[in-house]
Amino acid sequence: MPDASPQTIYLKDYKPFGWIIDDVHLTFRLHPTATRVISRIRFRPDHDVHDRPFFLHGEDLKTISIRVDGHEPTIYEQSGGITVDVPDAPFNWEAEVEINPSANTALEGLYMSNGMYCTQCEAEGFRKITWYPDRPDVMAKFTVRIESDAEHTPVMLSNGNGLYYEQDSTKTPAPNVTIYQDPWPKPAYLFALVAGDLVAHEDSFTTVSGKEVHLAIWVRPGDEHKCAFGMEALKKSMKWDEDVYGREYDLDEFNIVAVDDFNMGAMENKGLNIFNSSCVLASPETSTDANFERIEAIIAHEYFHNWTGNRITCRDWFQLCLKEGLTVFRDQQFTDDMRSAPVARISNVLALRARQFPEDQGPLSHPVRPESFQEINNFYTATVYEKGSEVIGMLKTLVGDEAYAKALNLYFDRHDGDAATIEDWLKVFEDATGRDLSQFKRWYSQSGTPRVTVREEYAQDTLTLHISQRTAPTPGQETKEPQIIPIAVGLLNPNGDEVQETTVLELRDSEQSFSFPGHASRPVPSILRGFSAPVLLDQEIDADRRAFLLAHDTDPFNRWESGRMLARESLLSSVKEGSAPNAAYLDGLKLVLRDDTLDPAYRALMLGQPSQSELAGLLHDAGHVPAPEAIHAASEALRQAKADHLSDILPGLYADHQVEEPFSAEAGPAGQRALANAALDLLTRLDGGATAAMQYTRADNMTQQLAALGALLDADQGQEALTAFYDQWRDDRLVIDKWFSLQVLHAKPGDAADVARRLTNHMDFDWKNPNRFRALLGALQMHHAGFHHESGAAYELLADWLIRLDPVNPQTTARMSTAFQTWKRYDTKRQALIGAQLDRISKQPELSRDTTEMITRIRGV
Ligand code: ZN
Repeated sequence: MPDASPQTIYLKDYKPFGWIIDDVHLTFRLHPTATRVISRIRFRPDHDVHDRPFFLHGEDLKTISIRVDGHEPTIYEQSGGITVDVPDAPFNWEAEVEINPSANTALEGLYMSNGMYCTQCEAEGFRKITWYPDRPDVMAKFTVRIESDAEHTPVMLSNGNGLYYEQDSTKTPAPNVTIYQDPWPKPAYLFALVAGDLVAHEDSFTTVSGKEVHLAIWVRPGDEHKCAFGMEALKKSMKWDEDVYGREYDLDEFNIVAVDDFNMGAMENKGLNIFNSSCVLASPETSTDANFERIEAIIAHEYFHNWTGNRITCRDWFQLCLKEGLTVFRDQQFTDDMRSAPVARISNVLALRARQFPEDQGPLSHPVRPESFQEINNFYTATVYEKGSEVIGMLKTLVGDEAYAKALNLYFDRHDGDAATIEDWLKVFEDATGRDLSQFKRWYSQSGTPRVTVREEYAQDTLTLHISQRTAPTPGQETKEPQIIPIAVGLLNPNGDEVQETTVLELRDSEQSFSFPGHASRPVPSILRGFSAPVLLDQEIDADRRAFLLAHDTDPFNRWESGRMLARESLLSSVKEGSAPNAAYLDGLKLVLRDDTLDPAYRALMLGQPSQSELAGLLHDAGHVPAPEAIHAASEALRQAKADHLSDILPGLYADHQVEEPFSAEAGPAGQRALANAALDLLTRLDGGATAAMQYTRADNMTQQLAALGALLDADQGQEALTAFYDQWRDDRLVIDKWFSLQVLHAKPGDAADVARRLTNHMDFDWKNPNRFRALLGALQMHHAGFHHESGAAYELLADWLIRLDPVNPQTTARMSTAFQTWKRYDTKRQALIGAQLDRISKQPELSRDTTEMITRIRGV
């Protein structure tokens, strides 16, 4: 499996396959250690392609037989597959292979999770199932026959519509046969198969044209009560895609399956979405409001892929953002409509800054459409997904809502059934609007976060904004061309009234000036409203101006952002100069929190402050060497200052936002809980945990229980509750994941590595389960001061476990190694400590291609 010298694949080398497939027939004879897969495929030459070597992918397959038109062909083995001598004419391919799902710990291809068979084929997992041109531009219709025994796998599912089902319980073992047929051509990465002892939560949806679709969420017996919320989210998504994008569902059934062992969040397999159980199972007792919100968004995301991803797929994996950026954009629009749009926007920007910005500004920086890779699984990144979505948001801002809708309709009309490219996507917008998008395309090809600097000038009743842009060099891209950046701007007069409503400036050049005449008194600009572009904004403005905008900005994003900037500046000067927390920030915050006309969820966001890792990034950016312990101290001091300054309003905020009604995961009550729990966090610094202890005892939902437990741990009062929590939830894996995370997240910086190490010895630390591995070691990397503690103990612990996990599950190992991506920010001692761990990992014999690529890029060799 491991490659001695991993190959680099380039976008510029793309060549079509050269063969067309009409139909694929697959038979699976399921067996835990020896599953037989029989494929019958009709191939014909693609006469548009001159060079047609017949190459099929395949990995870890035990070939039983291969026949071309009934005869044994000549086969040439190559790395990652075989080339076969075939006639230059239509022919029938037949192959039988044996695979071992039980031995498949990488969770790619066909594998077993708690006795259940399931698949994950994106990006290149189908080649572990049978010989096949495993590339997204080869689309075919699949018919799938599954054979097993009814005792172990009473339920068997594949893509499309169920055609045939037979069980004979008079025999032992009772044979069980199911046939599924998918009428829509699809690439192999959308193939799925599930078989096991599952129960369904069922429902139905009638589409806009009156077609009834049977819906089912399949789970292990015992999880039935956790399906209702996901089902509602699915129906809302189906309706929304009809209403907003005019897209109707196209099969008779839609199945979702929850799987405990899964590398990612979920997968949009045609008609058979497979979900990490953490991304679909929900109940008030076991799931937090944040879980509910995420589940709703992921269900929508995977459902929306049916049009943006499945009906129109990607020509090659370099085009991944074509489906992912657009589908994230669509799920974000959906969340805006289901919940509060300003709150959703702020949350998205927080996530972008926390995950995408460090990636874009460090050694792993890559364009939204990368131009080369060794392992495509390493490119399911925040840049491809979240920046990919931002790029679409900018496009919509630039062309306007109407033109966006027109372009999307053209996209669906023109490319339905295609494997398309970013060029196709942009061409649709050019044709629909008459606009030249060649400069806009740089958003897809240039990596790095543009830095936008604004200087103001006011003379003769005119405010002029001098705006410039610059993007720092990134790996492989020394020089950058100016990008087109939509900058939404509004103006307020000194009383706080809006005198210029939001208008979009198009920054095209390195430097440009924009004038606003006719203002007898100097207006205050509010720049980059709604975060209209994923950039860093530099504006030399003082704390009074920020406080003015915090009090008056009519744009909810920028109002929040003003508070955020005050908090940021306060923290940075306390790290650099040891200064006390900024009074303008604390006063402004109090005014906002007191304003009952503001949405509680929005006020809860106002109470947040930049993370320690964000501060480390900002300090590094400004030419300082960040000291994690100083950043930690400054953050704690600011929290304490907020608690002290707000001490008169916190009890009221807490009490007034208790939800008395029965639990609902809707935005309204969730926002109340968010504000009350943000207040609780600060109150705990004043009352030593008394309120939290009361809340813990009374809690009847996970949001309240977990917030109280976290606060108790902060107050060093949590040990008893922690034990009680474990005893209460020991049989619920998803809750026990939280139990693992919480202890690390709330540890003192000097203890975090020890706490994590101790937990790795816990009998429930099932490290081969990606959720559990991430719950513990992901929490350690999220604890900035703990992870970067000068002892280096956390670095070593993480490296130990990455080394252990790599042979078992390369994909999750590679993903978790990104914890080290920011290592060059820190002092030479820490760099040496991390460097030693990176060396140790890279020297492992047989290190996977996934991890090799990541460590090599992180080290910057
Ligand atoms: Zn997706």
